[in-house]
Amino acid sequence: MKTSATKEKFICRNFICLLFGHKIHTIRTITNHIKEYKCVHCGLELTNDAKGRITFLSPELKEINETLKNFLQKKTHAD
Ligand SMILES: [Zn+2]
Repeated sequence: MKTSATKEKFICRNFICLLFGHKIHTIRTITNHIKEYKCVHCGLELTNDAKGRITFLSPELKEINETLKNFLQKKTHAD
């Protein structure tokens, strides 16, 4: 069955993470306080929210980070 096979693959991919925890790497630095992270095993993407807490990197947050990074780059060039 196609559905169960997909589900099995998903569980396998995250099995290492379940056992050992996510292996998080910083993939992008937005500001000193906001970064984007990714798990090398399961591809889980995380970021910091406005309060500095770790949260899932939703498409909305990705867009906010992108805008923020562009804004800060322009600001740096203007100075
Ligand atoms: Zn993981």
